[in-house]
Amino acid sequence: MGYTLVIHGGAGKITPAIMNAELEQQYTEALNTALDAGQQVLQGGGSATDAVISAIVELENNTLFNAGKGAVFTKKGLNEMDAAIMDGSNLMAGAVAGVRNIKNPIRLANEIMLHSGHVFLSGNGAAEFALNRGVEFAPDEYFFNKQRYDQWVEIRDSDFYQLDHKEDNLKGAVPNPDHKFGTVGAVAMDEQGNLAAGTSTGGMTNKRFGRIGDSPVIGSGTYANNNTCAISCTGHGEFFLRAVVAYDVSCLMEYKGLSLKEACNTVIKGKLVKMGGEGGLIAVDAKGNYDMCFNSAGMYRGMRNNQGHSEVAWFGK
Ligand code: ASP
Repeated sequence: MGYTLVIHGGAGKITPAIMNAELEQQYTEALNTALDAGQQVLQGGGSATDAVISAIVELENNTLFNAGKGAVFTKKGLNEMDAAIMDGSNLMAGAVAGVRNIKNPIRLANEIMLHSGHVFLSGNGAAEFALNRGVEFAPDEYFFNKQRYDQWVEIRDSDFYQLDHKEDNLKGAVPNPDHKFGTVGAVAMDEQGNLAAGTSTGGMTNKRFGRIGDSPVIGSGTYANNNTCAISCTGHGEFFLRAVVAYDVSCLMEYKGLSLKEACNTVIKGKLVKMGGEGGLIAVDAKGNYDMCFNSAGMYRGMRNNQGHSEVAWFGK
């Protein structure tokens, strides 16, 4: 059957102007480390869900990305994280929103999927469940990142909030000094032909206390169904929520017979652009076809498959 793994580390204004040789080296290593972890699972005959978790944990542990260690700061100067996972073989899903001090939110999302009897937990209830399940916590210092903090300090007294690597904030002209970070995600097809998708994020800098983006919302930022595709999104969450992006791609395949690529293009480069929503997604279907589609300047991304294809990239084509 073969396998395919695709990952992203966020979309946004990623242009040659913000990159240099050292940074490119760091991103190459970070993306390949995550791909190695996921590929190891798939090569060993492991499940798409386990591969997605392994890849995302590596990205969460790397401060280059806005997830886990290195998550952005909210209006109150805290790190509040969202994550979701979905197993396309049985349509089981687990999601968590607004959690603090969870070392790897994707692991908590998986525990919720497998052991809570629910799909979506938030805030204190999610933390209590994490404690009961023995999910690893980390102190505030673990999540502190100077660049992220400075990024927040610059706009904390305004009503602005911003995508990690967007040049300007979403309402005006406060420049974002740091274009280097992003939400993370992974999608995979395993040797059994099963699909899975996962996404993990700190959200958007200076987001309102309690704000939840698209990443943990099943059907918006994350979706997987063996009959169609597995999708993980990144971008301005408010638009992805209203466009129900991930499920829309799946529906275009299921009800309209579009190919994976056609469906992704229709939503990301058509519908979303018309709405004014910036971002992208990664996708894989049950035949192992994949797509990395975005309407922003760039998206940190990478893929591997059993045929020896291996790629990491960030700029637009
Ligand atoms: N989609 C995420 C959110 O709105 C942000 C991102 O993808 O960087 O929370």
